[in-house]
Amino acid sequence: MYNVLFVGSEATPFIKTGGLADVIGSLPKAINETGDAEVSVILPLYRDIKETWRKDMQTIASVEVSLGWRQHQANLLTYVFEGVRFYFIENDFYFGRDGIYGYMDDGERFVFFNKAVLECLPHLYQQPDVLHAHDWHAALSVALLKTFQSAPSIKTVLTIHNLKFQGKMEHDAFFDLINLPPKHFSGFEWDGMVNCLKAGLFHADHITTVSPSYAEEIKTSYFGEGLDPILLERANDLSGILNGIDTESYNSATDDALYTHFQYHPTLKQANKRFIQEKFGLPVRDDVPLYAVISRLTEQKGFHLLTRVASEFLEQDVQLVVLGTGESRFEHDFTQIAEANPTKMVTKLMFDEQVARQLYAAADFFIMPSKFEPCGLAQLIALQYKTAPIVRETGGLKDTVQPFNEYDGSGNGFCFSNYNAHDLLNVLRYSFDVYHDCNRFSKLYDNLTGHSFTWFTSAKSYVDVYKSLCRAESYELVL
Ligand code: ADP
Repeated sequence: MYNVLFVGSEATPFIKTGGLADVIGSLPKAINETGDAEVSVILPLYRDIKETWRKDMQTIASVEVSLGWRQHQANLLTYVFEGVRFYFIENDFYFGRDGIYGYMDDGERFVFFNKAVLECLPHLYQQPDVLHAHDWHAALSVALLKTFQSAPSIKTVLTIHNLKFQGKMEHDAFFDLINLPPKHFSGFEWDGMVNCLKAGLFHADHITTVSPSYAEEIKTSYFGEGLDPILLERANDLSGILNGIDTESYNSATDDALYTHFQYHPTLKQANKRFIQEKFGLPVRDDVPLYAVISRLTEQKGFHLLTRVASEFLEQDVQLVVLGTGESRFEHDFTQIAEANPTKMVTKLMFDEQVARQLYAAADFFIMPSKFEPCGLAQLIALQYKTAPIVRETGGLKDTVQPFNEYDGSGNGFCFSNYNAHDLLNVLRYSFDVYHDCNRFSKLYDNLTGHSFTWFTSAKSYVDVYKSLCRAESYELVL
């Protein structure tokens, strides 16, 4: 049995801005169920973590963390949720603020978090055999552990959930904070800046990313976000393990957020559609296809394409609901298009878990035309709620959505490959035709119910990574 410590910046049910939280919140349980590893998780204790959770947390230690010439205190708290032990780093100066990210001093905040994690290691209930960090916010824990650990007994894994975000900082400020001797600088630098993700990629014993296709893509300059040379260098230690979702939580037969539970029967799904139409002031009709977007409204998600062709698409007898927040240009464009088409489109600029679940359950089609997509969980959740995804063939979308083939009846969604607005429009129009043909639509609907993206296989793949690292270690010791 291997003890593994996940280090990350968000996890359901405590705090969430996106798919990273879904993964860190659900993967540990799945790995623990294999019986071969025991995962616990360490996160910052943000102010937005609700009192319902805080009131039952237990403080187990208090440590000093040095940042340059300053000393900060961090409290270590713990709480067990659904059998998984969570640890929290408490420091009001860095985390007693609204939200999670987006502060000028995010670099310093996460340097503090990573240093605090290492200070807290001796106080954890179980010493980790493997420290498994997620994304740039946690990557320094790997780099610092490898740099300063006297005996290399803890193995390290870094998972890339999104290569675009790297945690870049100016040299002087960073090296002061971290007290790093100059001989180690090169492992932390990239392209004239300190780069936290690069530091993790350079030092980790193994690197994973969240789908096999993205693992290949990021070794190219188009997807590599400037880090492709180092990913190529480390290609032998890089693997793509497809994300799953918590199919107990995202379960249309039991989800309490839904208006009506349903499993396979389209009529019960229709009741959820009527509920959303009424809730958002759209005409309540069964015979009109309802398209949904639930997303961060950012360039990554391909919304240049959708905003470009949405008005043309809305000339057809369709409904579209957009739920999301993000870049103001997309918030503005989606709001304007909805205002121009009040009986067909609604834009809700908010992040709301309950509404999101209701919308996944209500929609017939889910639009996700991403420019790049490491894995994507939204299309997997849509499939759980029997909603056909319409995606661009990239990264994890390519690995999880197969185009509907009306001749042999295979496929669970609609796909297009070029990053081109009219290719998206064509595929939207094709989905509209399929919706209005009972034969074709019922074939497609059957395919939506066939497969669940559970963590089962992927959890075993992570355990295999831990095993191979720890076995290599014992082999080295014997030699
Ligand atoms: P990313 O992590 O890149 O944002 P993913 O598809 O991996 O994209 O995961 C997004 C997660 O965030 C999903 O669980 C999705 O349902 C959720 N989500 C996105 N936007 C919203 C929103 N406006 N309200 C509620 N949940 C949202």
